[in-house]
Amino acid sequence: MGEAMRGTRLGATSYEVDPGLYAPRQLTTYVCENEHRVTMPFSVEADEIPDTWPCACGSEGQRQGVQAQPAAAPKHVRSHWDMLLERRSIKELEGILKERLEVIRAKAS
Ligand SMILES: [Zn+2]
Repeated sequence: MGEAMRGTRLGATSYEVDPGLYAPRQLTTYVCENEHRVTMPFSVEADEIPDTWPCACGSEGQRQGVQAQPAAAPKHVRSHWDMLLERRSIKELEGILKERLEVIRAKAS
């Protein structure tokens, strides 16, 4: 009886879903100046994920990605698309695209 009870209980608990455990989480990695990594799971709903996290060695870990981002994405470089949008509306562009496609299709057939 005792054995059976325990088995049932174990089975039951393993299928139990703790809603807290399954709340969407995002893993944020911090790297300190000594290259120690700390990964913290923050709730996706958390509106403030700190940029730094104290490392066990005493230095401050920098949130990974935050530092690298400005270099990877230059301030704001106008793309050809941006320039195009300054002159034409999406609706106009759609019209032009349709026209061009018709020309291409006419040539292909
Ligand atoms: Zn450290």
